[in-house]
Amino acid sequence: MNEAINIEELFGRNVFTVGKMRERLPKNVFKEVKKVMAEGGELSKTSADVVAKAMKDWAVENGATHYTHWFQPLTGITAEKHDSFITHPDEEGRTLLEFSGKELIKGEPDASSFPSGGLRATFEARGYTAWDITSPAFLKEDAVGKVLCIPTAFCSYTGEALDKKTPLLRSEEALNEQALRIVRLFGNTAAKSVGTSVGLEQEYFLVDHEKYLQRADLIFAGRTLFGAPAPKGQEMEDHYFGAIRERIGAFMKDLNVELWKLGVTAKTQHNEVAPAQHELAPIYESGNVAIDHNQLVMETMKKVAGRHGLNCLLHEKPFAGVNGSGKHDNWSMVTDNGVNLLDPGYTPNENIQFLLVLACIIKAVDTHADLLRQSAADVGNDHRLGADEAPPAIISIFLGDQLEDVVRQLVSTGEAKKSKKGGKLVTGVSTLPDLEKDATDRNRTSPFAFTGNKFEFRMVGSSDSVAGPNTTLNAIVAEAFCEAADQLEKAEDFDLAVHDLIKEYLTDHQRIIFNGDGYSEAWVEEAARRGLPNIKSMVESVDALLKPESVKMFERFKIFTKTELESRAEILYETYSKTINIEALTMIDMVSKQILPAVVNYTGKLAKTVLAMQEAGVEPNAQRKLLQQTNALLEEMQAAMEKLQADTAKAAALKEKEQAFYYKDTICADMVALRAPADKLEMIVDKELWPIPTYGDLIFEV
Ligand code: ADP
Ligand code: MG
Repeated sequence: MNEAINIEELFGRNVFTVGKMRERLPKNVFKEVKKVMAEGGELSKTSADVVAKAMKDWAVENGATHYTHWFQPLTGITAEKHDSFITHPDEEGRTLLEFSGKELIKGEPDASSFPSGGLRATFEARGYTAWDITSPAFLKEDAVGKVLCIPTAFCSYTGEALDKKTPLLRSEEALNEQALRIVRLFGNTAAKSVGTSVGLEQEYFLVDHEKYLQRADLIFAGRTLFGAPAPKGQEMEDHYFGAIRERIGAFMKDLNVELWKLGVTAKTQHNEVAPAQHELAPIYESGNVAIDHNQLVMETMKKVAGRHGLNCLLHEKPFAGVNGSGKHDNWSMVTDNGVNLLDPGYTPNENIQFLLVLACIIKAVDTHADLLRQSAADVGNDHRLGADEAPPAIISIFLGDQLEDVVRQLVSTGEAKKSKKGGKLVTGVSTLPDLEKDATDRNRTSPFAFTGNKFEFRMVGSSDSVAGPNTTLNAIVAEAFCEAADQLEKAEDFDLAVHDLIKEYLTDHQRIIFNGDGYSEAWVEEAARRGLPNIKSMVESVDALLKPESVKMFERFKIFTKTELESRAEILYETYSKTINIEALTMIDMVSKQILPAVVNYTGKLAKTVLAMQEAGVEPNAQRKLLQQTNALLEEMQAAMEKLQADTAKAAALKEKEQAFYYKDTICADMVALRAPADKLEMIVDKELWPIPTYGDLIFEV
């Protein structure tokens, strides 16, 4: 069972890597490819043909039968339509396998059924996919066979972005341009570009597939809509980092192998806080590739789970009462010659470039806190952000002791003379080494935390694409860099000007810095005093996209046009309404077909017992009381269901924003009211009669 795994041999086996291109392409073509990768532009038609042929040959040698332009429509997941390599048979009846440069570079899927938010009416449904040369092609290998996947962007006939990748790439370009201006100011003429490095920690739940199939809510909504808490939750803190059970371990092992083959740097695996919850983190890589890879991670988790009789839940809150799942977005900026702009060095107070970058980020996050909050909003995340768990819905920045101290010095005296040192951590055991301490401790409650040489944006939902959050982050930081560079480039005395600017930014935006407990009620009040936005739900966050300042910023850096932003807003409202509608209908379905009949059955049995006991001359006090209780809850449940049915029917008459708010305010409240008696009934009704697996069955018996 435990055959050896050779990671070096496996890693990237299914990827058309730079190394493979170097081997298989003529020198001049390879050079051209590398140049376009680094600097943008287009491959010549002849080179594109050569690359396409090499890619096809490699794919076919490895067993591929089809290719696809793999893209990321506004559904947040990926899309693919397979074409086989076969061509029209010749006179002898043989087919030749072909794949041209044209087919590599451009595709034209019939795109009419993807959400476009009004960007494209169905009668003019043309959408184009365009090869993203910066993300490597790969072979997807499963029951379908092997398919050559070419990462692509997806745009309309008129050039509007219909996907998540295009704006992300635009934001990377904007950030590159503005960040280069900053490093040039400090005399760095060697760097040719600045990119992002991104590491995405992915949380997920695993449940048994047979039990999953018995829960319509998991099937249709991806989360439980009913379920009384199990006697035990996460309070013993025994799952976090606990020994990994064999069944889960076997899944993780297979998952790693599949990911390594795809060139995904799966690095860390562990049990998470909630029972049945786990995490996988890869090693960071360039933002665009990291985000493509995260899509592959999510997809592969689901696929591999199936092979192990498991089901992988990526929903942000599959179970009430225990932690939900997020995706930590570790983000930093690095020059092509390897300088991390967020590396403070040992003495951050002397690292002026770092301080300027930091001040710009602080300014960006404070100025556009609402946009950043919006970027992490999705329907499932409403159960996490601003609810009773991590992180809060209020955007703030955690800097840690050392940097906070530097900022304090700068704001108060205009100068930072010293940096706090980490010092030694004394273990007090003679056989253990004393450890060098980081100058900054960890903080787990901050939505946007500085963690040594990167920021960690912890708000993103586990099922969400990180393309949106990073597009926003890149955009707002590009804007702050641009404004700083505009001032500093024309300064007569650079040293003085940069010193003043850092002080100004930090002074003006220090309200966003918060090093305390982000979960506390005191912080909610304090944040309100500071005037920081506290946007509690996805639908309330959408307005931020269409504020004049936001539109101006996105248009200025050519990341979104106003029309594109309007389309996103429309899709967000629509997605919200559709999702809650599905949840409401699923609840109605489960109550009317499963829970209600089970309770009726139970009360019937109880009633018979009451009668039988009375006949036998014994007073059925306990039974009667139970029957009355159950019946009262049954009535409450029925009334709640009727209300939910009636209210859901009314939603159809509403549109867009109004409809989405109606779902949030009315339907969600109805759903809570329906769940409450059902969960109480679960605690009363005979387990044998209860029609669906309980929380105990689902999260403790995987
Ligand atoms: P945790 O936050 O749970 O301690 P880890 O330190 O294991 O997580 O992982 C954090 C993630 O941050 C990993 O994916 C890691 O590769 C990534 N990371 C580390 N350095 C950088 C950086 N400079 N830029 C972006 N991501 C980084
Ligand atoms: Mg983390």
